[in-house]
Amino acid sequence: MKYAEFYQRSIVTPEQFWQDEAALIDWNTPFTQVLDYAKPPFARWFVGGHTNLCHNAVDRWCATQGDQPALIAISTETNTERCYSFNELRAEVERWAAMMQSLGVRKGDRVLIYMPMIAEAAFAMLACARIGAVHSVVFGGFAANSLASRIDDAKPVLIVSADAGSRNGKAIPYKPLLDEAIALSSAKPSRVLLVDRGLAPMAMVEGRDVDYAALRAAHLAAHVPVTWLESNEPSYILYTSGTTGKPKGVQRDVGGYAVALAASMKYNFCGKAGETFFATSDIGWVVGHSYIVYGPLIAGMATIMYEGLPICPDPGIWWSIVEKYKVTRMFSAPTAIRVLRKQAPEFMRKYDKSSLKALYLAGEPLDETTSSWIADELNVPIIDNYWQTETGWPILSIAKGIEDTPTRLGSPGLAMYGYKVRLINEINGQECGANEKGVVMVEGPLPPGCMQTVYGDDQRFVDTYWSEHDGKMVYSTFDWGLRDADGYYFILGRTDDVINVAGHRLGTREIEESITSHPNVSEVAVVGVEDKLKGQVAVAFAILKDANAATSEQDVMSVVDRQLGAVARPARVYFVTQLPKTRSGKLLRRSIQAICEGRNPGDLTAIEDPASLQQIQRALRL
Ligand code: AMP
Repeated sequence: MKYAEFYQRSIVTPEQFWQDEAALIDWNTPFTQVLDYAKPPFARWFVGGHTNLCHNAVDRWCATQGDQPALIAISTETNTERCYSFNELRAEVERWAAMMQSLGVRKGDRVLIYMPMIAEAAFAMLACARIGAVHSVVFGGFAANSLASRIDDAKPVLIVSADAGSRNGKAIPYKPLLDEAIALSSAKPSRVLLVDRGLAPMAMVEGRDVDYAALRAAHLAAHVPVTWLESNEPSYILYTSGTTGKPKGVQRDVGGYAVALAASMKYNFCGKAGETFFATSDIGWVVGHSYIVYGPLIAGMATIMYEGLPICPDPGIWWSIVEKYKVTRMFSAPTAIRVLRKQAPEFMRKYDKSSLKALYLAGEPLDETTSSWIADELNVPIIDNYWQTETGWPILSIAKGIEDTPTRLGSPGLAMYGYKVRLINEINGQECGANEKGVVMVEGPLPPGCMQTVYGDDQRFVDTYWSEHDGKMVYSTFDWGLRDADGYYFILGRTDDVINVAGHRLGTREIEESITSHPNVSEVAVVGVEDKLKGQVAVAFAILKDANAATSEQDVMSVVDRQLGAVARPARVYFVTQLPKTRSGKLLRRSIQAICEGRNPGDLTAIEDPASLQQIQRALRL
C-alpha cells in the first residue's frame, strides 16, 4: 500500500482506522466507542474496552511460544547474562505481583521504580501493569532532589529499588540517595522493596525496607491473575522536564498505548514474533518504556536489556550481542553512534551482523555525518524517528512496514499515521508554507498512546500544551521545524528552555534552581550549547554573592551532582557579575546561547545593560 493513502485514512476516518488497529491486541471486553472527544483536548480511546498491558506483553505469548526467549538481560558491568522465556517471565512477574500485593499495593496505587537496568526492573513494571498499579520509573542517574520531587508528586505506596547501579565497573550506590530523597519528601512511602545485587552495603530501615530475595522466596509458587482494566485507566506516569523547575508527570492509558505500540511495532519497526529487538536506551526514559519493555513484547519479540557502556569491554560489545542473539531491529540514539564512530572500526566489523535489518535512531537530531557513517558500516536502512515522552511513539519517521518510502538525510521523515501535524507561524498563527519555519504542532485529538494528561493536574496539561487555532485545539511539541514541498519535516531545535544532552531531556530551569541553592550563588543562567559529541551540553553563568569567598566551578557542579545527578551537571560554570536581561528583568538565554555558539546574539534593543554580554564573551575568552 502507498503510505500517503494509509496516512490519509488515519486522518480522515480515524475511528475506522484505529478500530482496525485495535485488533492487533487482545481485549477481554470489546470497546463500545473507538474515540470519545467530547471534552477537547482530552481524548479517550477504546471506551468501555477492557484489556491489560501485561497480558498482551507476556501471557498472550505463553500460549504459542512460551519456551522462546522474551527478556534477555545482559550486564557487562557485572558480567551476567540472564535469559527468560515467556513462561519464565510470566512466573517472575506473577511473583512480583504477589509480592507487591503482600506489601499493600492495590489497583490504582502508584509504585515508584528507581532501578538500574536489571531484569527485576522490567518484572516490577510488568507486575504493576498486571495488577493495575501505576508505575513511575525514575531514571537511575537522577539524584536525591529529582527523586524527592517525583515522590512528592506521585505519592507512591511502594518504592522498588536496588543497592546500586554500576558504571564502568564502579558501583553507584542507590540506597543512600533514596534514603535522602525519602527524608526530603513529604509523601513518604510505607514500604521500600530492595534488590540486593551485592554491589554496595545497604542500611535497612526497620519496618519500612523489605529484602527482595527473602520476599520472593515466600512467593515462588504465586499465581496472580491479570486485572482487566478499562482502556482509559492509567498505566504509568513518567516525569519529564519542561520550562518550569517542576517536572511534569506524563500519564498514559492502557488500551490506547497497547494499540499504538502494537501498530508501531508492525508499521515502523517491522518486528515479527520470535525475532529479537535491541533498544540501547534505559528504562528511565520513554524509549525504555515503549521499546525495551512493552513494544517488543507486545509484538511477541524477545527484548534485550543492556546494562553497560557501548564501548566496554570494547567497542564491539553491541555488535557481539547482535550476532549472538540474531537481533533484527535495533534502536539507539545518535550520541551513542557518534561515540562508536570515534573507535577503531575493527571492533564493529569483527561480528556477523547479517541478522540486522534496520537501525532506528531517535531522541535528538541525527546529523548527516553520523547517519551516513553508520549506514555504510551496517549496510542497513537507518531510520530517524522524532517523538517525545508525551507522545510515546513516533510522530515523524518513515514507516517501512507500509511502503519503502525513501529516507532523506537530515529529516526524520513524514508525519506518522494518526498525527495531524501542523506547522504554525509563531507570530501570526498562520499555517506555514513549504520550507517556512514554524512550531511543530499536532491537531487534537492526539492519536492513541499519547499522554492523557499531566498526572494530577488536568489544567496544567491544557495550559502547557494546548492552544486554539482556527477553532481547533492544537498540541505544541515545543520544537521548531519546517516541511519541504514533499512533506518531509526537518526539526530545528526547541522553542522553550529545554535542552537535549546526549538524547536526555533536561530543563535549564531545574539546573538553575539547583545551582542557586548553593549558598554563595545569587543568580544563574543555564543554556544549552552545541556539542559535537553530545548534541548539546549545559553551560552555566553564575553570579556569586561574595566574589571573595572561595567558590569554584567544581563546587557548583557538585551541587548539581548531589541534587539532580551527574546527568544534569553543566559542562562548564563561568562566574560573571551581571547577566543579560530585558528591561522587564527577563533573562536573555537565547542571546547567551548565541554568543556561546559564536552566533549573532540577535536584536538587543530590549537589553538592560549591553555590558553584560561582553562579560559573557570575556568569560568564554572570545
Ligand atoms: P524526550 O521527551 O526526552 O524524548 O525528548 C523529546 C525531544 O527530543 C523532542 O521534543 C525533540 O526536541 C528531541 N528529539 C527527539 N527525537 C528527535 C529526532 N529524531 N530529531 C530531532 N529531535 C528529536
